Amino acid sequence: MLNGYDDRTDIGFGFRTDAEIAYDYRDRSQQQRLIQQRCGDLGWKVPAMLASVAGDDDFYFDRINQIRMPCWSRGRVVLVGDAGYCVSPLAGLGGSMAIIGAGRLAAALERYPDDHASAFRHYEDELRPFVEQIQQRAADEGMSTMCPADEAELAARDREIAAGHMGW
Ligand SMILES: Cc1cc2nc3c(=O)[nH]c(=O)nc-3n(C[C@H](O)[C@H](O)[C@H](O)COP(=O)(O)OP(=O)(O)OC[C@H]3O[C@@H](n4cnc5c(N)ncnc54)[C@H](O)[C@@H]3O)c2cc1C
Repeated sequence: MLNGYDDRTDIGFGFRTDAEIAYDYRDRSQQQRLIQQRCGDLGWKVPAMLASVAGDDDFYFDRINQIRMPCWSRGRVVLVGDAGYCVSPLAGLGGSMAIIGAGRLAAALERYPDDHASAFRHYEDELRPFVEQIQQRAADEGMSTMCPADEAELAARDREIAAGHMGW
């Protein structure tokens, strides 16, 4: 993926595996080798993109994760955003969810100014169904859109985009 802006271009590589792969999250060279192994023999602009990645000090590598906590608060500690309910980059909404969550928490604390336990419960009761809906959509549609499993899923995705059914 190439995301062009006025003064820079973000380069993104993604690949999908049948099972979780082991890697050292502090070892950038190992992570870059993994990308090279997966994408090295692709054509198009990929060799130039890989060359850029090799010299990039802003390199970032991770699994696609979601956080699904059974409860968002304990005592006086409460979670907002990715810490409580990361929806993953596949949702394209994580930043929005963090801002919405902060707003909802502030509103709940305003509603129950002397009772943080009720405020935290209200915040979670109100927001959790929406979060779960976004997470499920990311796991289903987001995954098949951003990381199609096979050629058939890729072709189906491209047909949807060509028909204007997706905002990607
Ligand atoms: C590749 C990628 C693409 C994405 N694209 C989009 C997109 O297009 N649209 C969108 O809305 N969202 C997107 N997201 C998701 C979005 O970035 C996150 O959901 C959002 O940043 C979550 O905000 P947050 O404040 O909850 O957490 P964060 O932004 O992770 O903020 C947490 C902060 O806490 C700091 N921190 C951690 N531990 C400690 C500590 N012990 N002490 C002090 N500070 C600490 C961290 O350094 C960080 O600054 C994307 C994410 C990724 C990874």
